Amino acid sequence: MGATIIVKCTQCGGLTLAGMEQKTKICPYCGVHINLLKAKKVAAANNAMEASEILRKLKSDQKINHK
Ligand SMILES: [Zn+2]
Repeated sequence: MGATIIVKCTQCGGLTLAGMEQKTKICPYCGVHINLLKAKKVAAANNAMEASEILRKLKSDQKINHK
């Protein structure tokens, strides 16, 4: 597993992980095919583990902001 990016779903805005070399990714929240070239890249990490750690932090930050 190589470099992993965190992208924002073009439809529902949910954050999900994708491989740097991937072109599309199915959103785990709404099931849409995300075009990774068009989707907003929120962050990048060296591997999937690091990326999921960043994703976890982003999600907890979002919860705080919504209060
Ligand atoms: Zn989605």
